Amino acid sequence: MASANESDVLIIGGGICGVATAFHLAQHGERVTLLERGEIAGEASGVNAGGLGGLGWGHNPDLQSYLTAGSFEIFKTLQLDMGYDIEFHAPGGLQAVHTAQQWDYVRDRVLEFKSDGYSAELLTTREARAIEPEASESLAGFMFMANRGRANPTKATVAFGDAAAALGADVKTGHDVQALTQQQDGSWQAQTSRGEFRANTLVLAVGAWSSPVGGLLGLRIPIAPVKGQMWATGPVPPCIFHVIGSAESAFHWSSGQGSTPTRRGMESDPQPQTDDLPPELTHHGDTRVTRHLYGGQTRNGEIIFGGDRRLAGYDYTPDAQGIEVNRGHAAEVIPLVGRLPISRTWAGLMPFSMDGKPIIGKAPHLENLFVLTGLASSGFGRGPMAGKLLADYIHTGLPAPVLAEADPARCITLIESRD
Ligand SMILES: Cc1cc2nc3c(=O)[nH]c(=O)nc-3n(C[C@H](O)[C@H](O)[C@H](O)COP(=O)(O)OP(=O)(O)OC[C@H]3O[C@@H](n4cnc5c(N)ncnc54)[C@H](O)[C@@H]3O)c2cc1C
Repeated sequence: MASANESDVLIIGGGICGVATAFHLAQHGERVTLLERGEIAGEASGVNAGGLGGLGWGHNPDLQSYLTAGSFEIFKTLQLDMGYDIEFHAPGGLQAVHTAQQWDYVRDRVLEFKSDGYSAELLTTREARAIEPEASESLAGFMFMANRGRANPTKATVAFGDAAAALGADVKTGHDVQALTQQQDGSWQAQTSRGEFRANTLVLAVGAWSSPVGGLLGLRIPIAPVKGQMWATGPVPPCIFHVIGSAESAFHWSSGQGSTPTRRGMESDPQPQTDDLPPELTHHGDTRVTRHLYGGQTRNGEIIFGGDRRLAGYDYTPDAQGIEVNRGHAAEVIPLVGRLPISRTWAGLMPFSMDGKPIIGKAPHLENLFVLTGLASSGFGRGPMAGKLLADYIHTGLPAPVLAEADPARCITLIESRD
């Protein structure tokens, strides 16, 4: 009986990070068990906006390029070569520029991106309206990113789980991991609500729950749960064709309040915060510091937008005032959406690290333990390659050089004994 619950690698968490790791480990021929307490894609990985891709590989790819451009290729493979319909579509992204100051800032970034070999263009509003007819005439312009796209987050995450299972991985839902213990030989044992599981290697891919799950091991994994919330209109005929965003938040964060501007990724290349807040939040306490925006139209015709990022513990309740601010912001970019009623709202929890960098690799202090978390507000679009890099590391024993900046040893510590 016990041997049925034994594997080479035990993964905790059935979000995009866990299932992508399981899929790539199974491709390497590893015997994998994945334990998820709810459903696959039941948390952030199933409720996000589905935005993916970035600026391409560039001349000298760093971790951010690997995660965004590499994941973009993996999503494509899943849809185009493996036959999973994940609603992958890559029409490119448009980032609205609202003011003359933002225009100067975005122009400098585009020049920098291009000299580094990344793909971004500055468009006048007229040029943007030729490819996105509902875009506002009143804006200063747009940045166009050809390598942006979207996929259905639930379908894509479930597809990775199914692809892993098709290669022999044992993907178990409804298994809440309640205790983790290391045996004398270095192997691991997980106790769930429904049984006991053993493996040589343990992977934590528990997103916003990294801190409590780390606590089961006596480890402090410094991840803050950050609430992200969204709203949708009812289905309408196709009218928004790109992944839509705004430069307002990046411009604000570039002013030194939490991070530096986007250099190579979908969103940003944050600098460490000096206080106890993760970088790139829209709120400090109850005070709004900036407006952030992402969204577009999904295949079922709904127009979806979101943007707020605030600390609220493990509270998922959408905040109506924040939704209204976000809707106003979206209507400044696509006036049509201001005339459509909101049909539903929802929220989820994103795993933010304190220095804004992902945490991917071998954990310090305990043997045979790996961690994949901290993908923050762009973990859907970066998770597939993060899972591949981690799977390759576990299988070969060697980390890819680009993982150096994501090394868990920089931030994971032992929880001090209270005795
Ligand atoms: C509203 C919103 C919009 C977003 N939009 C985008 C976007 O457009 N593009 C993008 O790239 N990213 C986006 N994100 C961010 C993205 O969703 C996350 O970064 C990503 O899903 C994190 O994946 P994960 O696997 O680390 O975590 P999760 O998806 O949260 O998965 C972790 C899993 O671990 C499980 N778990 C926790 N504890 C236990 C336990 N004890 N036992 C068993 N299982 C456990 C949980 O149930 C959960 O399913 C958005 C997020 C939100 C909330």
